Amino acid sequence: MNNVQRNEYLAAMGIRQWVRRDKGLPVAALDWPALQERVATCTCCALHTSRTRTVFGTGNRSADWLVVGEAPGADEDRQGEPFVGRAGQLLTEMLRATGCEREAVYITNILKCRPPDNRDPQPDEVSSCHAYLERQIDLIKPRLILAVGRIAAHNLLQTNTPVGRMRGQVYHFGPAGIPLVVTYHPAYLLRSPLEKRKSWDDLQLALQIINGQ
Ligand code: URA
Repeated sequence: MNNVQRNEYLAAMGIRQWVRRDKGLPVAALDWPALQERVATCTCCALHTSRTRTVFGTGNRSADWLVVGEAPGADEDRQGEPFVGRAGQLLTEMLRATGCEREAVYITNILKCRPPDNRDPQPDEVSSCHAYLERQIDLIKPRLILAVGRIAAHNLLQTNTPVGRMRGQVYHFGPAGIPLVVTYHPAYLLRSPLEKRKSWDDLQLALQIINGQ
């Protein structure tokens, strides 16, 4: 039976066929549902073989703030949501302290799948995932990107400068020149609580940008 006949039979039986809407479209052309589906079914790098769930991103899709972390950890891989473990709880508290509820911002990562044993993302994994983050940024059009930690800062800004030397300045991301502030990763702050003061200063800098000061 050819496809035309098959479709006629199915239509005659009142069976609606599931047609993948985004088939063939480049990532840069996908809308939110199609992008989320593309990520959920992604097999572009080896991480798809070890993941439990993809971790797309969460929060307000029209947010002023976009928070970008590194990659899902064990808790995130289990729950399918970014920053839900101990580091995530600290991030939520830090945002709240600046007057910004977690639900008001959008939170995602450089990688959408967990690297085994929480190792650093590899270059091929980052480049496979890159288009997804770029599309998220295009759709959200944030007024500010907060890069949390080395992996986010280095990959967004294509540099190897240590985070300690990047913080305290405003960078710009992409052709739209979105202001970008770098701060320490909350997992690092859990290990080095004395550095929290510096992260507080970074969040104040981010707030000044949002408030147009
Ligand atoms: N660390 C990250 O960078 N991202 C998460 O989602 C969780 C922990």
